[in-house]
Amino acid sequence: MTAATPAQASPPGPSRGGGVLRLVNPATGGTLRELAEDGAEAIARRVEKARKAQADWARTPLEARKAALSAFAAAVAQRKEELAALLTSEMGKPIAQSRNELIALQSRLKFFLASVDAAVADEVVHDERGWQEKISYEPLGLVANISAWNYPYFVGSNVFVPALLTGNAVLYKPSEFATLTGLAITEALQEAGVPAGVFAPVIGGGEAGRALLEQPVDAVFFTGSYATGRKVAEAAARQLMKVQLELGGKDPVYVADDVDVTATAKGVADGAFYNNGQSCCAVERLYVHERIHDAFVDAFVEEVKGFTVGDPMDEATYIGPVAREVHVRVLEEQVADAKSRGARLLTGGARLDRPGFYFAPTVLAEATHEMALMRDETFGPLIGIQKVEDDDEALRLMNDTEYGLTAGVYTTDESRARRVLAGVNSGSAYWNCCDRVSPRLPWSGRRHSGVGVTLGRAGIRAFVQPKAWHLKQPR
Ligand code: NAD
Repeated sequence: MTAATPAQASPPGPSRGGGVLRLVNPATGGTLRELAEDGAEAIARRVEKARKAQADWARTPLEARKAALSAFAAAVAQRKEELAALLTSEMGKPIAQSRNELIALQSRLKFFLASVDAAVADEVVHDERGWQEKISYEPLGLVANISAWNYPYFVGSNVFVPALLTGNAVLYKPSEFATLTGLAITEALQEAGVPAGVFAPVIGGGEAGRALLEQPVDAVFFTGSYATGRKVAEAAARQLMKVQLELGGKDPVYVADDVDVTATAKGVADGAFYNNGQSCCAVERLYVHERIHDAFVDAFVEEVKGFTVGDPMDEATYIGPVAREVHVRVLEEQVADAKSRGARLLTGGARLDRPGFYFAPTVLAEATHEMALMRDETFGPLIGIQKVEDDDEALRLMNDTEYGLTAGVYTTDESRARRVLAGVNSGSAYWNCCDRVSPRLPWSGRRHSGVGVTLGRAGIRAFVQPKAWHLKQPR
């Protein structure tokens, strides 16, 4: 990677092609680094190299591949502080939350390392009178991993870890807003013993992603927005390659009338505002039973007003800047639209008067589904609350969305929670929790939230293809 001269550099913010990627610190708006973007030819060379390297990697015993990924886990643990600071510098995640991401990454790595043998072991499904039917699992080959910036360690490792363990090569395109993290991941994997051809970075924005998908790769695993996901699916269709898409959400929580209002407000506010609301499974819509609505809203707003907003490098900070300056406009528009349609602004509502891309944590009550706030992904420190009269109305509103990632219910009554959650059309269902991902469970979105599965056993199987063996013994 070579640094560009200032004269070549594009305007502030990661460029959309043009050769130079300018990395910006969202807490200040200042330039962090400038890097050369990969062009089509460089990407083609890397793909060719990866194709050759993959064959050897697939022949490498699984134990050796596991040893390399274990060494990666150890390296990341050892460099935790440095890596957390790097992540915070380029996408503004508060330092304590960057550290949390690196700590929680270890349990994902542990899950994959412990589960891969069983997930890809040969299976004899029939063995009778000289006939054996068996299934073996072979790597897909070359995997393009196009990733997002909001949890680069989580969403990246959901893909590249099982892909590498199962014998694939990976062309990893980190988001242009998490490029330094992508390069740090590359360095750690290669130092841990993953050959350079087997895991290679592709540096750049949308142009680099597009160029990667013009290459003869075997599969694309994408994490990002619905709009880009559609383009990725179209590019994948042109080559008929396997495609998985982890996309956005508009995740609802219903608060029933039997909860501890203060504790629930605290838990749900964290689910909505952690990582500055920039989580695919952040709570974005809140439905509150009319019997506790006013008390809950008061407790919720008090909780939000108590958040420490500040420099993301400060240990005490809970809310830092949003990662992308352009997104501040999206937040302003959602607030203006909601207010013009009758929502009541209870706190926040505007950009903060300080350098960097800060938006005040914002709560709007009396929200309705006429408002963009309750329909379009917000992906920031902003939430709408709507009063409901019963569980049926809550369920109807929860399902009134194009997305389907997660949905949650807070109630002390388990059967009530199970009844509502059985009716939600989403990949994950939460009782008395939210904004949660477990490596042991499949992570999947429905409709505009995506296609395919990562994590859990299905999230390992996603990286292999079955071979059906029909074996007849000679007489
Ligand atoms: P994005 O769609 O803007 O970008 C995602 C990636 O696609 C980036 O690496 C970008 O450079 C690349 N890209 C852009 N145009 C492309 C093209 N035409 N072809 C190929 N690649 C292209 O999304 P983002 O802002 O990085 O991430 C935020 C989104 O990701 C949100 O919608 C969020 O909900 C979603 N997300 C989903 C999950 C999940 O598990 N479902 C997890 C994290 C984030």
